[in-house]
Amino acid sequence: MFFIFGIGPKTKVLEKNQFVCPVCRTRTSYELKQQRNYFSLFFIPLIPLSKAKGSFVKCLNCKTEMPSTVLHHAQPDPFQQSNLEA
Ligand SMILES: [Zn+2]
Repeated sequence: MFFIFGIGPKTKVLEKNQFVCPVCRTRTSYELKQQRNYFSLFFIPLIPLSKAKGSFVKCLNCKTEMPSTVLHHAQPDPFQQSNLEA
């Protein structure tokens, strides 16, 4: 009996949506991701080793990864937006 185990990061996609990327200034899709180190056995991540790090956003257009705080800055306020459309 032998075990194959290891420690590695596992990235989870929390959300997919659209935003205006501050880097390439294009309205495009992003993925909101969170990375965490896992102890894995037989390549199956079993035990989270660290608290989830801050999530980050990846622009699918220019492939830049940036802190998730850009979403709060880049997105127009939904109330303001509905006012503009009205
Ligand atoms: Zn971009």
